[in-house]
Amino acid sequence: MQNLTKNPTRLNLLDFTKEELEEIISPRFRVKQIFEWIYQKYADDFSQMSSLPRQMRENLSEKFHFSPLQCMKFEQSADKSIKYLFRLNDGLLIESVLLPMKPEILDEKGRVLKHTRYTICISSQVGCKSGCAFCLTAKGGFKRNLTAGEIVAQVLWIKKQNKLPYERRVNLVYMGMGEPLDNLKNVAKAVRILSDNSGLAISVKRQTISTSGLARQIKELGELDLGVLLAISLHAVNDKLRSELMPINKAYNIAAIMDAVRNFPINARKRVMFEYLLIDGVNDDLSQARELVRLLNGIKAKVNLILFNPHEKSPYKRPSLEKALSFQDFLSTKGISCTIRQSKGLDISAACGQLKERSINNS
Ligand code: SF4
Repeated sequence: MQNLTKNPTRLNLLDFTKEELEEIISPRFRVKQIFEWIYQKYADDFSQMSSLPRQMRENLSEKFHFSPLQCMKFEQSADKSIKYLFRLNDGLLIESVLLPMKPEILDEKGRVLKHTRYTICISSQVGCKSGCAFCLTAKGGFKRNLTAGEIVAQVLWIKKQNKLPYERRVNLVYMGMGEPLDNLKNVAKAVRILSDNSGLAISVKRQTISTSGLARQIKELGELDLGVLLAISLHAVNDKLRSELMPINKAYNIAAIMDAVRNFPINARKRVMFEYLLIDGVNDDLSQARELVRLLNGIKAKVNLILFNPHEKSPYKRPSLEKALSFQDFLSTKGISCTIRQSKGLDISAACGQLKERSINNS
């Protein structure tokens, strides 16, 4: 482990793109090697970077560190998803989740034909300003934006800890704590660092940015043309209910969001994901499914239904699976691709904010 007390003013190297480092480290070609050591060979310390001259390693460790977080706790659910609680260097807490999406496939001799497919869900802020009524993160208020390096570090740490070689494909979803588009500058930078071919090389097509519907920033993200996928947390089909569930709707209503989505550049083979959290008796009626079909008219959309994950501080309840299935059927018969997301990690409270909340209450 790197010793952070050595020089507390050291910069977090994970905050820098390769191009930025090439401006400040010479000779430039060493930067690619440093990236490979950190992101591909999972070095713990500059002293392990044996292809760099000794003096350079010493100079680097005087100026930089690459340990912006420590894992305080992790919990594995019965469905094998793992939720991590990280402590940042200023003591604040965030969380990330490793979700196995497709199981390993073996041949008859027990050899691996296909590795487990993972999705990593990462945080972009400590707390959140959006204030969604169903969300535990919102209850704690907003503390600060994560730096690009703190976002990158969650992925790096989880891949390294789980011994997933850098080239093993993972999908990333910016759906942990925080509203990613409220921290667009650092999130966009993290996307660039995570997709760098000398680093973790996670294709932008495997990175999904999820938003509570900040229409102006959806437009800005589109203008950056990063090539990432977009997910909209819609959760309601009329402004009255949506403003109750998601106060941010008062600033950007459904019409404004749909307008921004229609103008968002998406790959011809991809779709915009609409997340719809089904809450018992609140938004799970078939009349609401019908309205959703109307709203999505003309958009290359996919709907992901999520059954609400109950927690102590919420008045909302989880709907029955039958209700969710009939909502899904209705959308499917209207030609809208629709899945029901398995509530992975229900037994470890994987809805955002819950591990952190419990950890604080227990400490
Ligand atoms: S659901 Fe997401 S956007 Fe809404 S308050 Fe929670 S963290 Fe923020």
